Amino acid sequence: MNYLSTRGHPDRKRFCEILLEGLAPDGGLYLPEQYPQVDTATLAKWRALPYAELAFEILSLYIDDIPPADLKAICAKTYTAEVFGTDEIVPLRELEDGVYLEALSNGPTLAFKDMAMQLLGNLFEYELARRGAELNILGATSGDTGSAAEYAMRGKKGVRVFMTSPDGRMSPFQQAQMFSLQDANIHNIAITGVFDDCQDIVKAVSNDLAFKRKYRIGTVNSINWARLLAQVVYYFAGYFQATASNDKPVSFTVPSGNFGNVCAGHVARMMGLPIHTLVVATNENDVLDEFFRTGVYRVRGAVDTHETSSPSMDISKASNFERFVFDLVGRDPAKLRKLFVDDLGLNGSFDLSADPAFAQAAGRFGFRSGRSTHADRLATIRDTDKRFATLVDPHTADGLKAAREQLAPGVPMVVLETALPIKFAATLVEALGEEPARPKKFEGIEALPKRVVKLPADAEAVKAYIAEHCD
Ligand SMILES: *Cc1c(COP(=O)(O)O)cnc(C)c1O
Repeated sequence: MNYLSTRGHPDRKRFCEILLEGLAPDGGLYLPEQYPQVDTATLAKWRALPYAELAFEILSLYIDDIPPADLKAICAKTYTAEVFGTDEIVPLRELEDGVYLEALSNGPTLAFKDMAMQLLGNLFEYELARRGAELNILGATSGDTGSAAEYAMRGKKGVRVFMTSPDGRMSPFQQAQMFSLQDANIHNIAITGVFDDCQDIVKAVSNDLAFKRKYRIGTVNSINWARLLAQVVYYFAGYFQATASNDKPVSFTVPSGNFGNVCAGHVARMMGLPIHTLVVATNENDVLDEFFRTGVYRVRGAVDTHETSSPSMDISKASNFERFVFDLVGRDPAKLRKLFVDDLGLNGSFDLSADPAFAQAAGRFGFRSGRSTHADRLATIRDTDKRFATLVDPHTADGLKAAREQLAPGVPMVVLETALPIKFAATLVEALGEEPARPKKFEGIEALPKRVVKLPADAEAVKAYIAEHCD
């Protein structure tokens, strides 16, 4: 399997070459040259497989530069009941007639990013050992991504993590999750500033090419193809749990920010998984909902990006969206470049409303969308508690609301649960008047010793810290 860039760069790469990379050299995103097709006989075979083996089968279609026995061992080591809490790994339960919740957030940090990041940690360790190389991951987080990355990379050979976060701005629970890690290869850096300052520092350090090369700086952001690929697996696992046979269509609703999660659903659908509809659920930051309703993709500025009670979906642009648009415009890199380089560069937006391709987003590709507000989230959390004695986190609540607007008779609707309610306790308290129960292993974590350094919002200070901790 070879990978291409959405922006038309002539090079083709193998999986392990793009594993440790971010963007393609021309600024595009990597995609497989074609989507492997899965027929009904294969689906029938896969239906009976445990999660780790299903993951191996799917990954094998995209990864041909890791020996199968090694890849199988990596999958088996990653997707265990010990790490994810159940043998099903992503158990499905029916909430009401035809509406299901697929639990993706029982990993170490209680959010769905563990599903991909845990695999990435093991793939990184494997590939770095094979190359005899090291990698220093530099990141910026306001919560979920950073902790998922740290829990995936802790103790891994050849990898260090330098994770910046805005000092004092994460929830006490999130701070405790990250800062209580005592592993020598994990470095928490609290920056005196806001999340944007952290992102600016990461950008400044990455733009210093000499420093980047010398200290082998890498990232684990959501455009990484391996992360997306890992997420394809749970669409198959959810499908098998929601159906008794492989001829029934199923719809998925996906709480969306950077379009990574739902893009994995798109890939699963392109492979031939019988997905009826993919519902993109957004909060008040509704760039994606606007696109699927109108055909206009309009990136928001900082002042138009709202801080909401589903903060992991607070995005100004959806960094994986280019992958879907590439398929939407018939994989034409010139057309893609016009939209993402010329139009976005010039106007901060592009308009496909008059383009016949836009009709295919809903038609051929099965996309719908929905939007929620803070009031909707509170109402959904209350309603779900009252009618089904089930607590959902604010992101999953956004999903449930959008899902109910897109139900089709006879088609099961699977809503992806992207975090556990305890991670967003303040909103749960606002909705229900009480704190959600906390899994045992997280009791009292706020009192654990913290491992974190405070640095000013200055890229030079962060560089000096990295240099000092790199041998
Ligand atoms: C990251 C995240 C999302 C958004 O996922 P994307 O892949 O960026 O669309 C939604 N909910 C939670 C809880 C998250 O952590």
